[in-house]
Amino acid sequence: MSLVVRDLTASYEGLAVLHGVSLQVDPGEIVAMVGANGAGKTTVLRAVSGLLQPTGGSVHLDDREITRLGAERISALGLAHVPENRLVFPSLSVEDNLQLGGWNRKRDKRYAERRAAALELFPRLADRIALQAGALSGGEQQMLAMARGLMADPSVIVLDEPSLGLAPKVVGEIVAALAHLRDDRNLAVLLVEQNIRAAFSVADRAVVMERGRVLVEGTVEQLRDDPRVQAAYLGGS
Ligand code: ATP
Repeated sequence: MSLVVRDLTASYEGLAVLHGVSLQVDPGEIVAMVGANGAGKTTVLRAVSGLLQPTGGSVHLDDREITRLGAERISALGLAHVPENRLVFPSLSVEDNLQLGGWNRKRDKRYAERRAAALELFPRLADRIALQAGALSGGEQQMLAMARGLMADPSVIVLDEPSLGLAPKVVGEIVAALAHLRDDRNLAVLLVEQNIRAAFSVADRAVVMERGRVLVEGTVEQLRDDPRVQAAYLGGS
């Protein structure tokens, strides 16, 4: 499925922070969303996944409008949100964290298949399946957060800063997993990243956000040396 966002607006306590954001992510494609702190990237993801009610505009999965549906419904329709800071349940085991990700299709007989697919993508988790999630390294917790999102069998996955605070080698593993989801599972991937180098190493297209708007978008090749990409970071919001 394609994720189609049109003219999205959102606010916090009456203060507008998104001023009409449009973007599209198609199956088999990774779109990186980059921009300075406070540009509105996290807010776009929250509005898309139903954690925040947008004040205007629309969000579709293919032709189906999901704009004002709740987060659980949106998840069941095929959109997974892997939030910032991982947010795994630290006192639960890796296994139990995975089960929570698949809760809305618990009776689905494909549950075991999805679990196997998630562990194939992140073999480190298979080795640590009985450990408490809080005992994992930061990179492993990120993998678990992604694996948990995949347990709902999404067609679209949106990720908020998966590389934050991770060593380059682990960032490489996360990037490789994203490429696999695009290339072998045909997912549509929307990737929010501060780490431009990592994001551009895997993305097909990029959207540069500034102050709640899309400043520029294009292919990674077009944007790699665009001064506005650098300015989005150096300029602040
Ligand atoms: P970051 O990389 O810092 O997460 P971002 O591009 O994801 O930045 P958002 O987190 O979407 O930006 O924030 C957009 C704007 O909304 C910022 O001005 C921020 O201060 C404001 N904001 C974010 N969350 C809240 C909130 N819960 N209440 C009020 N304002 C908020």
